[in-house]
Amino acid sequence: MAADNLRERAFVIIKPDAVQRGLAGEIIGRFERKGLRVVGLKLVHITPEQARRQYACHEGKAFYESLVNFMISGPAVALVLEGRDAIALVRKLMGATDPLKSEPGTIRGDHSVDIKHNLVHGSDSAESYAHEMPIYFAPHELFDYELALTGWMYYR
Ligand code: UDP
Ligand code: MG
Repeated sequence: MAADNLRERAFVIIKPDAVQRGLAGEIIGRFERKGLRVVGLKLVHITPEQARRQYACHEGKAFYESLVNFMISGPAVALVLEGRDAIALVRKLMGATDPLKSEPGTIRGDHSVDIKHNLVHGSDSAESYAHEMPIYFAPHELFDYELALTGWMYYR
């Protein structure tokens, strides 16, 4: 079994549709309430270069150009969250990409109806975290700290 890593980090973007709809606080709150710690947070107006690099794995697909245009269409919020199994946990809280498959109770399942305008991005593996996070954050913009309540949320 893999070692219990309480400090796994996940990269998240609250997409421009969520910012426009006033859902940024709601989404950050869901991650906080689950027990993830915010270790990086900023408002960003994503550049075309950043969006293209972030979504390089989708280059050539039919939705790629439209996705890039959506991601640069207004301010977004970039986040790094930390906690046990943070990457898988974030994906679970986000819900499926397809609006007909995202379960009620998830961010997408509760708040979105469209496969593109789906409010949130989350890295899907350690490899995608390593690729995406440095596109938006410099090392000094991430913070190491403890929350006093950690011992009540995680056994030690
Ligand atoms: N997307 C889209 N049309 C599609 C599939 C995806 O516009 O048919 C957009 C959507 O915003 C999605 C993003 O492209 O979140 C990246 O797609 P991916 O399959 O990686 O989904 P995710 O990992 O975000 O769930
Ligand atoms: Mg993806």
